Amino acid sequence: MDLLSYKITDSCVGCAICTTKCPVKAISGQRRHRHEIDASKCIKCGACTISCKFRAIVRG
Ligand code: SF4
Ligand code: SF4
Repeated sequence: MDLLSYKITDSCVGCAICTTKCPVKAISGQRRHRHEIDASKCIKCGACTISCKFRAIVRG
C-alpha cells in the first residue's frame, strides 16, 4: 500500500496552473488562494508537481 500522497503547501499562490495539468481534475481552489488536492480522485501521477513553478506541491 502506498501511503504517500500529494499535498499543496502554503507556498501555493493560487495561480491555478496545476488544475489544468491534472488528468483527473483532482485539484481545486479559488484564484490567489491555496489550492487543494482531492485525495480520493488523485491517481498520483506527479504532473502537478512538475507544473508548479512555486514548488508548492509535495509528496509525503
Ligand atoms: S501551480 Fe502551484 S502555485 Fe499554482 S495553484 Fe497549483 S499548487 Fe498553487
Ligand atoms: S498527482 Fe496527478 S492526479 Fe494527483 S493531483 Fe497531481 S496531477 Fe492530479
